[in-house]
Amino acid sequence: MKANRGMLFSGVHFMSGLSEQDIQCPFCGETITVFADCSISRQTYIEDCSVCCRPIQIEVNCEEGEVLSISTDRS
Ligand SMILES: [Zn+2]
Repeated sequence: MKANRGMLFSGVHFMSGLSEQDIQCPFCGETITVFADCSISRQTYIEDCSVCCRPIQIEVNCEEGEVLSISTDRS
């Protein structure tokens, strides 16, 4: 019995880098740029707003190296 399955993925693009994302600060409403790590499927972290310096809670959902959704909240 032969199990000859070609386990080849076409177009593998595993990017273990950072993705630049524009978010809106929930405090001052300014749009700021943050970097999301796409190698993690789901993460929550705190980043200080570059405009008003208040801590923004950022939740990022990623899949296959791309950001699916990003949301912000007041921490
Ligand atoms: Zn702000």
